[in-house]
Amino acid sequence: MPPLYQDSQNGLTGSCLCGAVRYSISASRIYNVVCHCTSCRRVTGSSFLTASIYPIDSLTITIADQQYSANPSPAPGIRSYVDPKTDSGKPLTRHACATCSSFLFAYTPLAEQIVSVGAGTMDQVDSWAPDKEQYARNRARWLPEFGEGAKGLRVYLGHPFEVDGDIRP
Ligand SMILES: [Zn+2]
Ligand SMILES: [Zn+2]
Repeated sequence: MPPLYQDSQNGLTGSCLCGAVRYSISASRIYNVVCHCTSCRRVTGSSFLTASIYPIDSLTITIADQQYSANPSPAPGIRSYVDPKTDSGKPLTRHACATCSSFLFAYTPLAEQIVSVGAGTMDQVDSWAPDKEQYARNRARWLPEFGEGAKGLRVYLGHPFEVDGDIRP
């Protein structure tokens, strides 16, 4: 596992577009990531995904006044899709709100102790900035470099867990 970052984002909260699914996070992030992989582009309908990686036991999900632990088995009100065509080759379980389809969480068998949370669903998204940029080999050609506002950003051609390192000089 990468080292834990110290940050000021303890007490994060968020929700899907319709508000049926709310969540809170009680730990510091492990890292924030921009992902350019083809699966993330399709699931977001956008050019890249922004997400934050947290310890799985720090995420509490609230749906219709019931609380649930983060889990690859979806709570009622959450729709699950196991994506078999990831660029890493490992199936990724993605969770979305069953009502409004907002992408919320993802779980990977590469690391069962973490959960990925869609950064655009966070109430505090204004203070979000990436620590890592992954699958940069798929980066849209029109995108500018993420330099300003993303200090210390590390860039990976593939997935950081593949340990191909920061590609920049
Ligand atoms: Zn919703
Ligand atoms: Zn991705």
